[in-house]
Amino acid sequence: MPPKILLSACLAGFNVRYNASSKTVIDTTLQQWKEEGRLVVCCPELAAGFPTPRPPAEIAAANGAKVITNQARVIDAQGNDVTDQYLLGAHLALDTARRHGCRFALLSDRSPSCGSQTIYNGAFNGQTQPGSGVTAELLRQHGIEVFSEHQLEALIERVRLVELGQAIR
Ligand code: SF4
Repeated sequence: MPPKILLSACLAGFNVRYNASSKTVIDTTLQQWKEEGRLVVCCPELAAGFPTPRPPAEIAAANGAKVITNQARVIDAQGNDVTDQYLLGAHLALDTARRHGCRFALLSDRSPSCGSQTIYNGAFNGQTQPGSGVTAELLRQHGIEVFSEHQLEALIERVRLVELGQAIR
């Protein structure tokens, strides 16, 4: 079976970001995967019950791995601790990925949930730092290969190699 890809809903064009916008990625391979039924669209924050719009949130001077091990918190711009909802969203995304057999994920970078290369630094000053959000980290910990929208070409190549391996087996 061709590999499936979990896709951040905001990258798929849905206006689900904290400010009710999207970050639509337009690409012919993505479109082909969509037509082949291989994209599984998911927004961990909406799955956890957040509304759109909602206050932005950041991981306080840490990363998703620290949140998962209860060593760091996710705080929104109004000072509310939203860690539990972020963890819930991550686990729901993992459940979705497993249910659909997703081997890969293409997730929106910088998000405290979906960020996989960089995330905001927790000071709400627009500065980023290397690191992963809660969902991206949890997916990786369970064997799902996570790519950001800046790594789309690398994902396409990786999927191509896996398909090649399946074809010659
Ligand atoms: S949680 Fe992920 S899918 Fe949802 S809006 Fe944020 S970056 Fe996009």
